[in-house]
Amino acid sequence: MYKQRTLRSSDPEIYRLIQSETKRQDNGLEMIPSENHSSIAVREALGSVFTDKYSEGYPHKRYYGGNEFVDEVETLTIERAKKLFGVEHVNVQPYSGSPANQAVYFALLEAGDAVMGQNLTAGGHLTHGWKVNFSGRTYRSVQYNVKPDGYIDFAEVRKLALEHRPKLIWCGATAYPRELDFGEFGKIADEVGAYLAADISHIAGLVAGGVHKSPVPYVHIVTTTTHKTLRGSRGAMIMVTKKGLEKDLELPSKIDKAVFPGLQGGPHDHQTAAIAVALGEALRPEFSKYAHQIVKNSRALASSLTENGMKLVTGGSDNHLLLIDLTQFGKGKGLFGQLALDTAGITTNKNTIPFDPSSPFYPSGIRLGTPALTTRGMKEKEMAQVGKMIARALKVACIHEMPDDKEGREAAIAKAKEAIGSNPELKKIRKDVLALCKKFPLHKNKRP
Ligand SMILES: *Cc1c(COP(=O)(O)O)cnc(C)c1O
Repeated sequence: MYKQRTLRSSDPEIYRLIQSETKRQDNGLEMIPSENHSSIAVREALGSVFTDKYSEGYPHKRYYGGNEFVDEVETLTIERAKKLFGVEHVNVQPYSGSPANQAVYFALLEAGDAVMGQNLTAGGHLTHGWKVNFSGRTYRSVQYNVKPDGYIDFAEVRKLALEHRPKLIWCGATAYPRELDFGEFGKIADEVGAYLAADISHIAGLVAGGVHKSPVPYVHIVTTTTHKTLRGSRGAMIMVTKKGLEKDLELPSKIDKAVFPGLQGGPHDHQTAAIAVALGEALRPEFSKYAHQIVKNSRALASSLTENGMKLVTGGSDNHLLLIDLTQFGKGKGLFGQLALDTAGITTNKNTIPFDPSSPFYPSGIRLGTPALTTRGMKEKEMAQVGKMIARALKVACIHEMPDDKEGREAAIAKAKEAIGSNPELKKIRKDVLALCKKFPLHKNKRP
């Protein structure tokens, strides 16, 4: 056996970077709504010896020996997911959310078949048929949008479904601040005989915690990542519902075959073990409290932002996520907003808003959310403070103009970066952020 050394002594460079990232997370507000802080238990499982194992196949049907404990881990993970979401069949092997969705296509569609999903610019995900993604390039993609008020346009969804007869319809989004009406999607899918898949990657924790309506009674398939509101390690699951089985008894085997051997080789068993731990955590009553607090915090943040002069897409939030519409200050201001918030120690991302007058590269909105701050133990009182800080930072950011031409834009961005980097108001906010973070340390205290 080679000599074992700790990371610190074996690879000080990477050790130092992990320490730096830990400190960055501890000293800043992580408000990207697809992110969270996983538990030490989850990360202990993720760093376990299961990373060494090969286990192509499924429990008790493997192509390699030595899988007695892997089988137990995978079976336990599946059982926990079934219990948590109330589904009939679960595949826990997809490497991440995008490969999980790819497996659904591979299981159900032939190249050229019609698929329908929410437009990326209206808050949908790349894998729901966006033009540059495999899904938009391999299949005939039909995209639905939101109305000017920011809500899904069900009249359009139905009209497009009747016109194009998609074989598969996706619902679920990455940038949608309101509760999804899965029942409405279910009716439309049934009317045209389509498979309906709900991608609950963003809201899985809210569904598990009982604060967002579950799609399970209305859809055939549910896909989800495990690392967003569900607060596990990076990974994904594909679930088949009772309604799915009633439509197609073969659905579980079609999904399983699409994942392996259709698209993947050996599953990441360390990831599976970590997902099991996260699902175990999500089954506890504290998790439901956590999920409810995420939404309370999101609503409190929405109020605070609005009171401080910010405009929100749909005017508020039902879930964990908010979209700030910066067009009152001009178009294409998202990047400046993101840069200013970064300088203040608040991590968010620039995002398109519905009917964005600018482009996806230089969008006019900011997407942010409350899952990670809620994990730290922050509540409505802190959200009121955070909303004020964000509004202050965005007002600093939005004095910069984003020109339409490429050269003008490059010069403007360079100038804005410099000004934002040395802005005294942002430095003041940075101090306030730091003080708030110190009150809610990530790694020293017990977690909520
Ligand atoms: C995050 C997300 C995905 C993709 O997950 P990755 O793990 O980043 O591949 C898919 N669908 C939706 C709705 C998501 O929010």
